[in-house]
Amino acid sequence: HESLRTSFSVIDSRAAQLISEPQPFPLPVTDLAQLGATEREQMVQRLATEEANLPFDLRIAPLFRARLLQLTEQEQVLLVTMHHIVSDGWSMGVLIREVAALYTAFSEGKASTLPELPVQYGDYAVWQRERLQGEVLEEQLGYWREQLQGASAVLELPTDRSRPALQSYRGGTVKVEIGEETTREVNELSRREGVTLFMQLLTAWYVLLWRYTGQADVVVGTPIANRNRAETEGLIGFFVNTLALRVKLSGNPTYQELLGRVREVCLGAYAHQDVPFEKIVEELQPERELSHTPVFQVMMILQNAPVAGLKLPGLKLSQIERENTTAKFDLTLSLSEEGKEVGGWLEYNADLFDEATVARMAGHFKTLVADIVADPERRIADLALMSEGERRQILHRWNDTSREYQARCIHELFQEQAERTPAATALVYEEEQLNYRELNRRANQLAHYLQGVGVGPETLVGICMERSVEMIVSLLAVLKAGAAYLPLDPEYPQERLSFMLEDARVAVVLTRRSLTSRLPDYQGPVLDLDTEWDRIEAQPAENPVSSATPENLAYVIYTSGSTGRPKGVLGTHRACINRFEWMWECYPFARNEVCCQKTSLSFADSIWEIFGPLLQGVPVVLIPDDVTKDPPRLLETLAKREVTRIVLVPSLLRAILDTAAEVPVPRLRYWVSSGEALSAELAERFRERLGERCLINLYGCSEVCADVTYYELPEHLGERRVPIGQPIANTQAFILDAYKQPVPEGVSGEIYIGGAELARGYLNRPDLTAEKFVPHPFSAAPGALLYRTGDLGRYLADGNIEYFGRSDYQVKLRGQRIELGEIETVLNEHPAVSSCVVKLGEVVRADGRDGDARLVAYVVADEALGGRPAELHRYLQERVPEHMIPAHFLMLEALPLTPSGKVDRRALPAFDPTVAAAVVGYVAPRSPVEELIASIWSEVLGVRSVGVQDNFFE
Ligand code: AMP
Ligand code: MG
Repeated sequence: HESLRTSFSVIDSRAAQLISEPQPFPLPVTDLAQLGATEREQMVQRLATEEANLPFDLRIAPLFRARLLQLTEQEQVLLVTMHHIVSDGWSMGVLIREVAALYTAFSEGKASTLPELPVQYGDYAVWQRERLQGEVLEEQLGYWREQLQGASAVLELPTDRSRPALQSYRGGTVKVEIGEETTREVNELSRREGVTLFMQLLTAWYVLLWRYTGQADVVVGTPIANRNRAETEGLIGFFVNTLALRVKLSGNPTYQELLGRVREVCLGAYAHQDVPFEKIVEELQPERELSHTPVFQVMMILQNAPVAGLKLPGLKLSQIERENTTAKFDLTLSLSEEGKEVGGWLEYNADLFDEATVARMAGHFKTLVADIVADPERRIADLALMSEGERRQILHRWNDTSREYQARCIHELFQEQAERTPAATALVYEEEQLNYRELNRRANQLAHYLQGVGVGPETLVGICMERSVEMIVSLLAVLKAGAAYLPLDPEYPQERLSFMLEDARVAVVLTRRSLTSRLPDYQGPVLDLDTEWDRIEAQPAENPVSSATPENLAYVIYTSGSTGRPKGVLGTHRACINRFEWMWECYPFARNEVCCQKTSLSFADSIWEIFGPLLQGVPVVLIPDDVTKDPPRLLETLAKREVTRIVLVPSLLRAILDTAAEVPVPRLRYWVSSGEALSAELAERFRERLGERCLINLYGCSEVCADVTYYELPEHLGERRVPIGQPIANTQAFILDAYKQPVPEGVSGEIYIGGAELARGYLNRPDLTAEKFVPHPFSAAPGALLYRTGDLGRYLADGNIEYFGRSDYQVKLRGQRIELGEIETVLNEHPAVSSCVVKLGEVVRADGRDGDARLVAYVVADEALGGRPAELHRYLQERVPEHMIPAHFLMLEALPLTPSGKVDRRALPAFDPTVAAAVVGYVAPRSPVEELIASIWSEVLGVRSVGVQDNFFE
């Protein structure tokens, strides 16, 4: 023990101080021998806690003390600490060799056998400074400038947690191995391909990073010994340098081809390895960021410095193992070839990753390398990452949803329900009530009438009505006639309705007297129910017969289209029935339940609202349009009607929680949030306000009958994102990369949906249908398809899916689906507009709650517009539905472009509603009335300065 303080010089003075400080020991170091085993153990425990609390560079002290406590009589300890600033990995080998030589010599009473050093580190430093200047330095730096220009600043790895603003260097490690067999094959392949082991393993590492991130341009750092002159080989000192290796993986090359690219990049880097990495960083001037390291965040090391194990005569030596709890980078893959096997460690940033995630990654590396050597001629997208077990889990176990469901039509099930409960209330609309018998009779009469004018399977009937009993009668009648309905929202602009009618070629449009003016240009047959009801009522009351099957069309619902034209989704009976049955089974109706209908027919979510309860004998309360837009009145209605279930978009849920001090709806037990991401913040507030009522996050889209995955929120939420959950009955969700390969758990990809709920495609759009409904790669069933949603997500460890957003320019605004491209196309058609971009801007709130989102249009227009966005507002009003009209128009001189000439969306000026009004030119209020109005507007709109010429709606 004495040797500790005397034999060797301890370089780091702080560590030295800690080690010689007696506090943690109740006894002087020399009395340790007297301690009993339990006391020792307790002290070791205490030291472990102490270690964890110390800064990284001081942790060695308690660790070392703990080791002292465990010493046996025969053991001796030798401590050397060397700071990295004066040594490197290679130096350790030199040190060990020299200690061994000196110890051996001195223990035999001989003199030092070590030869004199030809140069010292100082000589090297002087030489390096003299050499790396002027042209030589310029040439070297020029190489790196060119190599690293335009590389992305961050590799967006799929992390378990989002990146903190300040990197903490907390870390951990997991073991990596590739096995003896694979090691042999890798070495063989290296020989065949004329590359080093390092290049091979690095190429595999690039493939893994690409598959994990989808980023095809990746920079990985690697240390290089930088001792390429014989004189420096025997020196202890800091020679090591870092090379930033940038490789492009674009075009899905074969592994061999990529290996060639990696080889070139490595050789180029080796030829320019002299310039220190810090000089390159200085030269590149990357934007300063404390959340990640500059230039690269992922490293790969192949230890090949000669480190001999220390052998000393007459002594048995053991190594003190210590757990690594730090990480300098997001990931460092550190490998070495020991004996017959390549293995090592994967060090990870513990702020970003869980150990299990990184362990899985290490497994993927192993599988990948083994798959590479099996056939290196394959394209990198086709190489296996997952084990068979993982693949089975992701493709099959988590999609094992098969359940019986009835192959029936919607109207058939309704008819049967009407027979079971003829006198039960079916519909409630303000003062009006209708029982099942009556509803069935009226629908039958209209259905007979429709059949009489030639309506049948696969024909379309337009329904242009406000929410009312007649609207539901019409829906049922169209289905009973065997046909499909096309909702035509009377609020939509003329142009939009005309387009839909022309595109869909409906057999007839059902409407009301008050709305006939909404269809002035329409030449086809229109049936105004109010005027014609007497003739309809003369029709038979019995259920009509049609040849419709579950595979026939039930509806066509138009949704925003990115090319400027909306597209009609072809929905079938089969898909609807599957959706209904899943919910009936999973969340069965109890006695006395009441549902409500408040979603516009133009959204697929309305289908469950209407038929889900009606096919089960549950009454549906139709909520008038103006009430749906008024949260307090909506709540009042829900309370008065004793509604027990509601489906709503998160923005309405938020509005309800925001506006009502009380949410007095004790009967409302089931809350289904759908159509848009449900934030953890909103879910949290729901729990606070509404206790443990059932809150379900449903995910899906029009093309898959609205709902395909679900997640029931637990009583206590974590801080995480709210998942969209697992696929419902007879539905599969796959998460695939750009090459339609399944991505592993935790890795994000595009969500593809398979199963019973797929629509038949888009009306009259075979190309688009083929693009979005693609052959099912994992199903043996002939003709099976998957729908590609354009949504991004990933599987979590428990089989739930987490939703990330879109892979394109589709957005959701208050639950309504909008293709920004559609608005842009229409705006661009305005004669004065030369170019434009539409974005979804988020108003950031100081209280941390979710902000309010609004559409913002950035427009470049000529003189003709006179800088008046009001004209664009009016223009759009005639062409697109209200929810697609931007809230703000920012007039720009030109759109910012990326180096490649595309619009640089990120460089668009930030959207700030508090100053947006100033764009039109500001004239201050001049009279008390103007001032009052301005202050009211400013309060209502949250806009700082309202001028006399500002338009409220702009
Ligand atoms: P729609 O066709 O109008 O139903 O819109 C479908 C789109 O809404 C999906 O592709 C998603 O982008 C989004 N969406 C629907 N439900 C959810 C949900 N629960 N969480 C997040 N996004 C959702
Ligand atoms: Mg939806």
